Amino acid sequence: MGLGAVRRTCLVTGAAGFVGSHLVDRLLAENFEVVGLDSLMTGDLTNLRSASKNPHFHFQAGDVREPMHVYAELIFNLACPASPVHYQRDPYATFTTSVLGAQRLLEMARGRQCTIVHASTSEVYGDPDVHPQPESYWGNVNPIGPRACYDEGKRGAETLMTDARRTWGVDARIVRIFNTYGPRMAFNDGRVVSSFISQALQNQPLTVFGDGKQSRSFCYVDDLVEGLIRVSRLEGLDGPMNLGNPGEFTMLELASLVRELTGSDAPLEFRPLPTDDPKQRRPDITKAKRLTGFEPKVPLRSGLERTIGDFRLRLGLDEATPSRPPPAQ
Ligand code: UDP
Repeated sequence: MGLGAVRRTCLVTGAAGFVGSHLVDRLLAENFEVVGLDSLMTGDLTNLRSASKNPHFHFQAGDVREPMHVYAELIFNLACPASPVHYQRDPYATFTTSVLGAQRLLEMARGRQCTIVHASTSEVYGDPDVHPQPESYWGNVNPIGPRACYDEGKRGAETLMTDARRTWGVDARIVRIFNTYGPRMAFNDGRVVSSFISQALQNQPLTVFGDGKQSRSFCYVDDLVEGLIRVSRLEGLDGPMNLGNPGEFTMLELASLVRELTGSDAPLEFRPLPTDDPKQRRPDITKAKRLTGFEPKVPLRSGLERTIGDFRLRLGLDEATPSRPPPAQ
């Protein structure tokens, strides 16, 4: 950046979360002045360890549901618990964070030169009966089930974003994020990737829900962040856009890959399938490709290797240490 150039200010809500913190790092590398807001409901400040050494990063502890005054030209709204275990812990907070958070940001952006990139989710498709899921699919969501606080909260936020765009002309852009994984995932978020890796590294049984034949598509976090940046650089975006990796795997396939890559022979332990657990999920990313050139680059195997390396470090297991204890003499 040349001398005297003015940095654009970007607000990231949910900055201390898994995806938020990676996005913050990328925005700092892109020479933004970054304000990171997080209530620390599920976020973790250690995710911002490197960002906080940067004088262009400013952390604000706060709740997106409360009034705030940040003069940002660009907002990424990632504030919401996002894993089933986290979002079901306080469903009321999950729903209101999603909907009231969207309302706060839209009211702040209204009448200003401000772009909002709003993180929605593949959960808006519920348990889909169209496969893979294009943005035009309206979804199959139980409005009163245990996942509804998240699914319907995110659907409500999409409605607000869309109406604010239509009626007030706010430059609100919706991305629907499919399952994402990578370094810094919380050990205890109950997600399948973090659970399987932690379990395999600690030689505990891998907990497979249901028969393990349900599918998900896993996107490495750097690919997702690239997609978010590309969306922010568009001239504008009409309607939601899927972001994810279309590679589709069953949970049994994932378990066997994690066992192979960790060198663990931990057994599988089958547990009941949670209520309303979607049977399959794969993004149709035609729109993202067409408008932004988005194309995930990191295959599951190499993304898992990087994630396992990070988990080993954070769990205090040396790279060289075998994950299973030596056989008794
Ligand atoms: N799952 C599993 N074992 C676990 C955690 C999750 O088999 O320890 C399954 C879960 O039932 C679901 C899939 O893995 O079918 C993905 O779950 P996750 O919570 O990661 O994401 P989501 O259901 O929101 O896609």
